[in-house]
Amino acid sequence: MPKPAYTDESGRQELEKKQAMLAAIVDSSEDAIISKTLQGMITSWNRGAEQMFGYTEAEVMGKHISILIPEDHLSEEDMIIDRIRHGLRVLPFQTVRQGKDGRLIPVSITVSPILSSDGTIIGASKIARDISEQLQAMKELKEHAQTQELLLSVSTALSAQLDLQTTLQKVTDIATQLTGAELGAFFYNRIEPEGEAYMLYTLAGASREAFEHLGMPRSTAVFDGTFSGEGIFRSDDITKEPRHGQNAPFSGMPEGHLPVVSYLAVPVNSPGGETIGGLFLGHSRPAIFTEEHEKLLSSITLQAGVAIENARLYEAIQQLNMRKDEFIGVAGHELRTPITTIKGYLQLLGEPSSEAVGKSFIEKALRQVNKLNRLVTDLLDVTKIQAGRLEYNMTTCFLLPLIRESVDMVHQIYSSHRIELQLPADDIVITADGVKIEQVVINFLTNAIKYSPVADRIALCVKKEEQRVVVAVRDWGIGIEQQYLESIFDRYYRVVSSEYVVGGLGIGLYIAHEIVQRHGGDIWVESEPGKGSVFYFSLPLPE
Ligand code: ADP
Repeated sequence: MPKPAYTDESGRQELEKKQAMLAAIVDSSEDAIISKTLQGMITSWNRGAEQMFGYTEAEVMGKHISILIPEDHLSEEDMIIDRIRHGLRVLPFQTVRQGKDGRLIPVSITVSPILSSDGTIIGASKIARDISEQLQAMKELKEHAQTQELLLSVSTALSAQLDLQTTLQKVTDIATQLTGAELGAFFYNRIEPEGEAYMLYTLAGASREAFEHLGMPRSTAVFDGTFSGEGIFRSDDITKEPRHGQNAPFSGMPEGHLPVVSYLAVPVNSPGGETIGGLFLGHSRPAIFTEEHEKLLSSITLQAGVAIENARLYEAIQQLNMRKDEFIGVAGHELRTPITTIKGYLQLLGEPSSEAVGKSFIEKALRQVNKLNRLVTDLLDVTKIQAGRLEYNMTTCFLLPLIRESVDMVHQIYSSHRIELQLPADDIVITADGVKIEQVVINFLTNAIKYSPVADRIALCVKKEEQRVVVAVRDWGIGIEQQYLESIFDRYYRVVSSEYVVGGLGIGLYIAHEIVQRHGGDIWVESEPGKGSVFYFSLPLPE
């Protein structure tokens, strides 16, 4: 007799083996594999589920699946069960579930129906995969792409921009956006002659009015480092920094304004290495800025440095161009004045009654011709200096005769002022281009007369020192304000004064500066508005 029990037995064993294998697979899976009845009661719970949700098998068996579903996702369960009842699979979908500790876990879920041996649907098996890492990676990828896009937009924006203010604003906005700062500020390193005030240039995240209550930020320990090129300064909590002074850029925020805790300061250097500004970022929460932000900002500030330098150069060129245009107008006027005067004298000379005064007319006309000649020489000199072609005829000569000759020449043209001389008894030997040194002296003397309309004297003093001789021309005229002192030796530079208008081309001192420098000497000025000026130049004495 056949023994069906044997066949049953081997079939059962085979089944048990299969089930054990399946159980092992389920058990070792990192995904949560859960089965539930059609009413949603949990009927199995693998180790993966235990790890993912934090409940042990004993804790959840027989409980409703909704313990894993956050309240605002509860409707999903109805949709799932509805499909399962109809024998349909629920394809992977992304959602969130909740762990025992209340933590929300982003998951990808697949649900399939469980059939009994007769094919009836008796429940559902659900596989949940934790996708936090995947989402994080995607988020990082997206952020990276955004950063790259922003960086690209920085270089495009900056390279298309030559306006300084717009460039600085762009840099501030982008840096603030990239770091997630609540407040961004770019301080431009403009040091005022009278102090170390930094000019506030651009802001992001705060209104200019709110900031202006603060006045200009003064130099502080924290600030100093950034401007003296010490490099990037990052603090998770600036209020705990020992270097944090009373008036650091953000500590004295206006009333009602967010306090700065996280702080990041990055110097902006020109391509030549000079620190031209500082980018300061703040956040009211601690530890916001990271090393990654530092790297990003370094790359931005590098580009910003180049862009700012270009913008500055462009500004300087524009200014020079403007002055040049002005200059052309002034030059035309300056040249026409002596020509008109000469023409007038010549016309007078042509009249029969002019015989008696003819000589003095000729002298006057000649003076104008000299003036004209000097103007044209100056103009040509500027062109030659620019091209590096101003030639010097250096010889050994005596200084005092040069000085006397210049004084005579000036006196002939301008008789309004007495020129007092303080000359040493012994003459001084110099190695120089005598004609050019005369040109400098004449420029000093004419300026002294031109710019002292109410005085009637000027003084010239020559002093021999150990290794040099110093020539000084003093006047008691209108003087020059401190802020213009540096610029007056620049090409086409004229101090704009509403009170006193006098003709000039703004090239005399530029030429004088060039000549003295080429002789190895120095040129400088001391002046007080309303009191007068002293212009100096020195020449080295031969060994
Ligand atoms: P300019 O032809 O205009 O006199 P300069 O190059 O000689 O050109 O001088 C440049 C500017 O410096 C002048 O426009 C004037 O504003 C100022 N300056 C020169 N000398 C004096 C002076 N002695 N007193 C006051 N201002 C002066």
